[in-house]
Amino acid sequence: MPLTELIIDGFKSFAQKTTINFNNGITGIVGPNGSGKSNITEAIRWAMGEASAKSLRGNNMKDIIFAGSEFRKPLNSAQVTLVFDNHDHQLNFKDDKVSVTRRILRSGDSDYLINGQSVRLKDVRELFLDSGISQNSLAIISQGRVDQILNSRPEDRREIFEEAAGVLHFKQQKAAAQGQLEKTNDNLIRINDLVKELE
Ligand code: ATP
Repeated sequence: MPLTELIIDGFKSFAQKTTINFNNGITGIVGPNGSGKSNITEAIRWAMGEASAKSLRGNNMKDIIFAGSEFRKPLNSAQVTLVFDNHDHQLNFKDDKVSVTRRILRSGDSDYLINGQSVRLKDVRELFLDSGISQNSLAIISQGRVDQILNSRPEDRREIFEEAAGVLHFKQQKAAAQGQLEKTNDNLIRINDLVKELE
């Protein structure tokens, strides 16, 4: 399930639409300090559903939109697309090629697309769940993340192993089912009260 292509348009320092092709093997990205190397990994994390502006070194999600420079006006939107080769079907999706796009407007409106179809953030998260590259996995290690992992609470560190072992998906489904069960129980209690009142 290799990431084969990254298309960045209006994200942080990428004012101009930029396509990065990842071929087989290792891709190294080099450049002077402040040239935008970290912005590339942040663009990948953002497209995969990163919800914390702080972890993308901003105060507000709108801060990721190109803010202008000496020579260019600020932009009003940003868009990042990840293209995966899904021949091995490691991504939970039927197609052999899967593209995931996230867009944001300066108004704050944001949306996601999978293979051009509008989807919810939940769908994007589910697509990557158990693939080993979900947003918080160790597939992407940003600056400072090593210290953060070493200093994290054992329970938080356990989540990393659970994801690698493929059980996080089931834990999340179990939590959702338990939530629904509680709601159903509450409804039953309410219905019983109503029945008693009517008797
Ligand atoms: P280093 O090697 O020092 O870690 P780097 O190559 O990883 O640097 P980044 O941290 O990715 O560089 O990029 C920082 C640059 O991105 C800065 O020049 C900053 O001004 C620019 N930048 C960040 N957010 C925006 C934005 N919203 N609009 C325009 N430029 C931005």
